[in-house]
Amino acid sequence: MIYEGRLLKMRTQLDKPVKYFLPVNDDMIYLNEHLGKDVSLEFTGKINCIRCGAATSKSFNQGYCYKCFKTAPENDESVFNPELSKSQFGISRDMEWAEEHDLIDHYVYLSITSGIKVGVTRHHQIPTRWIDQGAMYAISIAKTPNRHIAGIIESYLKQHIADKTNWRNMLKDNLKEDVDLIDEKKRIVSLLHPELQKYALKDSQITEIVYPGDYVPDNVASVTFDKEKTIEGKLMRIKGQYLIFQDDTVLNIRKHAGYHVMFKV
Ligand SMILES: [Zn+2]
Repeated sequence: MIYEGRLLKMRTQLDKPVKYFLPVNDDMIYLNEHLGKDVSLEFTGKINCIRCGAATSKSFNQGYCYKCFKTAPENDESVFNPELSKSQFGISRDMEWAEEHDLIDHYVYLSITSGIKVGVTRHHQIPTRWIDQGAMYAISIAKTPNRHIAGIIESYLKQHIADKTNWRNMLKDNLKEDVDLIDEKKRIVSLLHPELQKYALKDSQITEIVYPGDYVPDNVASVTFDKEKTIEGKLMRIKGQYLIFQDDTVLNIRKHAGYHVMFKV
């Protein structure tokens, strides 16, 4: 089968294991059924912005043209640093967008990706956010009415816990430490200022995420369409937004959102 068109980040469904779908134009390719098979992705040389659709020779922040990168609310500083969100004061690149994306319930969570990390996500992005980052376990620790407050909690907790994932270790299932997320949640919440503690969640449900494919690479080598026209191999595993091939090359699909490809299975 050949599918041709614009890639978008993989869609997922929490299941054991997670179900992965690759959007190529209007097709949704169910990838789990291609595990253990040869697949090939060939870049056609065309990139379209995932927001405005304009042709662009280079993609910024995982799929945007330069103009959207500089002006669209999806690329505002508060997306990367939630504590900088000012929508609660009516200040945003686009208030209509902010009403739907910033001024809604957010969660602060702990997840185990490579090590334990803290993060912030919009309520409807659970568990998508956790799957996209390749977390194996995650727990929500606080629920806030907007992005700003979640960001304040996160930026405080960053002094005690990492907020970044080592993607190589994540792909190698290389967990740095064995942590009890419930204990860690209690510890972390106790560190918060009482004003922030009121957002803490009582519920302590851990979500376990199992990724499709048993293969674990020894050493990962990242490949990109910016350097190679064709990326192919036997698909052994899918984790986060990465396809992992038998020769231990890994392809970050999200990074190539907006790229046009021919996908062959
Ligand atoms: Zn654009």
